[in-house]
Amino acid sequence: MQNFLCAGFVSLGILLPDLYLGYFSKMLACTIPYTTLLGVLGFAGVLSFIHNRLVLGLVVGLITLTQTIQLNHWAYFGAPIHSHDITKVFFELDEIFQTGASLIHVLWPVWIVLSSSIALIVVGLIYTKHRKHYPYARVLIVLVLGITPLLSYLKGPSFFYTKPTSSTIYNTVRAFSDWIIHSKTKVKSLGYKPYSITYSTPKIKNIILIVGESLSSRYMHLYGYDQPNTPFLDSLKNTPNFAYAKGISSSVSTRTCLQLLFNVFHNPGFLELIRKKEANLFRLAQHQGYKTVILSAQNEKLFHDAGTEFVNTFSSEKDMRKSLSEKGDVTLLDAMEALELGDKNFIVIHLRHIHTPFGGYAKYHPEHTAGTKHTDRMSQTSQEYSDAIAYHDYWVKQCVATVQKILPSDTVIVFTSDHGQLIGERGMFGHNLMQPEVTDVPVWAYALGTNEALISPIRKQPISHYDLGKLIGTFLGAEITNPNEDPSLQFVHGSEVYTDYEFMPWKKSNGVPEFLKNRWVGG
Ligand SMILES: [Zn+2]
Repeated sequence: MQNFLCAGFVSLGILLPDLYLGYFSKMLACTIPYTTLLGVLGFAGVLSFIHNRLVLGLVVGLITLTQTIQLNHWAYFGAPIHSHDITKVFFELDEIFQTGASLIHVLWPVWIVLSSSIALIVVGLIYTKHRKHYPYARVLIVLVLGITPLLSYLKGPSFFYTKPTSSTIYNTVRAFSDWIIHSKTKVKSLGYKPYSITYSTPKIKNIILIVGESLSSRYMHLYGYDQPNTPFLDSLKNTPNFAYAKGISSSVSTRTCLQLLFNVFHNPGFLELIRKKEANLFRLAQHQGYKTVILSAQNEKLFHDAGTEFVNTFSSEKDMRKSLSEKGDVTLLDAMEALELGDKNFIVIHLRHIHTPFGGYAKYHPEHTAGTKHTDRMSQTSQEYSDAIAYHDYWVKQCVATVQKILPSDTVIVFTSDHGQLIGERGMFGHNLMQPEVTDVPVWAYALGTNEALISPIRKQPISHYDLGKLIGTFLGAEITNPNEDPSLQFVHGSEVYTDYEFMPWKKSNGVPEFLKNRWVGG
């Protein structure tokens, strides 16, 4: 019985920061997913069977130290701490104390919650003297504490991605596990100079950036594919307020593409840019007085290091799960209609379609006619992919209608896909491979009641995610200058930029990308 009481106090203590700062005062964006709840209850249960004071003291000390760092970091920066920043905490204690002291008026609720949290845990352990003990609980707790570092070791540095709306303890456990395992693989400085930003009056009041999933332009009728799978986009093709070009993605995986696109990343290995987020589009938008929004049909983890700390409204798959499974990505349009808009708005819509299996979208498409069944993988996949693009075109039509309703003027809709897709080219399928086809994405823009000349750079091809990021900066009235820019070269980066990685250099020659030999950062 006393074990239950003890576990209850300890669990409440561990979850108090999320309960108070997340649900009650809404100071942080944290929540308690049920998996975290079960994990914490299980952990507290095991802890209640331990008698040894030294072990209990160490566990309480560990929670205190790591959560103190996490909560202060999150409250100050608006985002959970990254494993890369943990070493810095120990080296910059002076500076941190000074900053903390000057921010007492902001941070005091964090400190009260932290103290109460520790008090609950300690009270739970001290005042349940008659709880049952189990000698092997000690071993069990060491095993439990070892699980995430072990996973981090097995899965590599990519194990740790922050979840900006998950619980503080979830993010703490992941960050510190990754830090313990990988703190030796330090990020090298490659001597790049910081970007500079020149601000002026914003050029367009409302910017809707739609980021598609796995869409390659070469399978779209708009770009010359032989099946008529983009009737809506085709209808815009010759209007003066529409511009399109072949695009080249920044990377080959969803998460890295988002990170690099939003940070306007160019030079291979320039990690400091991502860490400092000098040119982050959400940051620039907020600086210019825009309300910033992300509506994503996918997991929030994909926005790791994309600058969510500069986002006013962030809804991901877990916030719209039921509707997404019933209606698909039309859910995002409902969410957009329900938004409380600002005077100026930078809204990012992140799609789930055209994710594999491609055949799954037909049910959302009223005019869908079942295509021919093919016997070989290649023709079947390209048929399903093309059908999925037909659904996408139908979604775009509804999206444009929604935007015309809620933001009819001084608005631009910009579209690109995170990366493209291989549909059997040279026997290859999927993405994540460093192949030119994976980098093939569409880029288009549609201007509503705003200066059409602003979108004309999207008529010169090919346009990279980097070029597009800079152009969006221009729309925001934030001109981005990168002193390290190579005027003739661009780069497609590997799917994990936190380690030395392979990248593909390419240059624009007469409107087509010319890929050069792959190279390695640091190699
Ligand atoms: Zn993707």
